[in-house]
Amino acid sequence: MHEVVIVGAGAAGLTAALELRKAGIDFVILEARDRAGGRMFTIKSEAGNKIELGAELVHGLVPELINLVKAANLKVVQANDDHLALEQRKLVNANQYFQNTNDILAAMTEYAESGDMSFAQFGRLITEERPRLASALEQATGYVEDLNACYAEKVGIDWLAKTQRASDETEGYKFFRLLDGYGALVDYLVAQLPAGKIEFDRVVRKIVWKKNEVVLEISSGDGQVAALAARSALITLPVSILQIACLAAESNSAVVRFEPPLDQKLEALRSIELGRACRLSLEFRSRFWSEMESLSNFGFIHSRSLPFTTWWSQAPDPAPVLVAWAAGPKADKLFGKAKSELGELVMQSLAEVLEMPLAELREELVEIHFHDWTSDPFTQGAYSHVKANGMKAAKDLALPIDSTLFFAGEATDTDGFSGTVSGAVKSGIRAAKELLQVLR
Ligand SMILES: Cc1cc2nc3c(=O)[nH]c(=O)nc-3n(C[C@H](O)[C@H](O)[C@H](O)COP(=O)(O)OP(=O)(O)OC[C@H]3O[C@@H](n4cnc5c(N)ncnc54)[C@H](O)[C@@H]3O)c2cc1C
Repeated sequence: MHEVVIVGAGAAGLTAALELRKAGIDFVILEARDRAGGRMFTIKSEAGNKIELGAELVHGLVPELINLVKAANLKVVQANDDHLALEQRKLVNANQYFQNTNDILAAMTEYAESGDMSFAQFGRLITEERPRLASALEQATGYVEDLNACYAEKVGIDWLAKTQRASDETEGYKFFRLLDGYGALVDYLVAQLPAGKIEFDRVVRKIVWKKNEVVLEISSGDGQVAALAARSALITLPVSILQIACLAAESNSAVVRFEPPLDQKLEALRSIELGRACRLSLEFRSRFWSEMESLSNFGFIHSRSLPFTTWWSQAPDPAPVLVAWAAGPKADKLFGKAKSELGELVMQSLAEVLEMPLAELREELVEIHFHDWTSDPFTQGAYSHVKANGMKAAKDLALPIDSTLFFAGEATDTDGFSGTVSGAVKSGIRAAKELLQVLR
């Protein structure tokens, strides 16, 4: 019988495993997919370009993540922060867009001090008080929904203010990238674990638990069902999966069941939401945009009026890849569309952004890369945020049960980094410490 079984080999599960290995604790990781990394998913295209299908940016310098990056000897580069905005069909410097957004976020932070509410509710109050802020609010709403993959009507300003503070303290207003992609970090983490410690293609279906004992029912790719017993389990499942497991009545083939059910987690699970996002990586023959005036060195473009609201290049990396992004309510309009339809829509949008004939743009295109995280049975969304009046939720979700079930994953972060790889890494380290306290 293992001391610990870790469910999920994403950032949280792998980081926790590394800590347990250092402490000499016996563990095994069960991973549903045939690869490690979870929402960190880097591929190499046929043309040799590195393509991120999930996480790409390193939001600020959070010590726990940066320490891993240094240990792995990986290079971090700051993303080019030359931001443009599409206004009345013209690309302009985004200074005004950010000034407006920052004004609103500053007012939001003040409001958050006297109580929580949704961002939309705050928006209604602030524009009643100061009607001249109406257009700034519209831009700030787009920014908040885009960055956090959330809905203004649901996301809490207390949580937004907390993430804002955490970001300010770690230079989170700067974006970085791993030169070799998040996949290189995944490779490093996997290489630190003894061979055979990650079992792939193992879908955990049921977790039967009592104090100091868990028995997991696992199905593997070949249809075999097996049982595995351990002293304790570290659950790193995305919050969407936990919600279906604990809140949904109907059974779902990709979902875990807990016996007895996790009644302790119900309130927390109702207060956190896994937002949705749609990202497409467009790979071109060349960086043709670098020859266009004002676009030669662009980092990001904000285009709220289009179906895809943010675009970014790989600059300063010269890879001929552009990313198109839509999140929250904007992403909802894209779900259910076939990849070919999404491809058509993204090319039309980009032609508008670049003021370029669609046919010319098509000639430059090599391939569109896309992973549908919403339909992916092992993610079912993008990353989490906390709803209004839900500030207790992440802490409650993280709390171990009976010194037997432990919880990690980005949604359990309580320091303002939920929704990010940094938050997942921090949560893995925290959960490993909790396990060590019990096992030692
Ligand atoms: C499109 C997109 C873009 C993003 N961009 C960024 C970004 O730029 N910067 C950033 O910091 N963050 C970004 N994120 C968020 C970031 O990827 C996540 O916060 C982080 O990777 C989550 O790690 P985790 O370990 O908590 O969860 P996961 O990576 O989801 O790991 C959970 C693991 O559990 C496995 N699993 C699920 N069900 C089962 C089961 N039944 N049995 C066994 N295993 C199971 C999954 O396969 C997965 O490997 C992005 C996410 C998405 C989707």
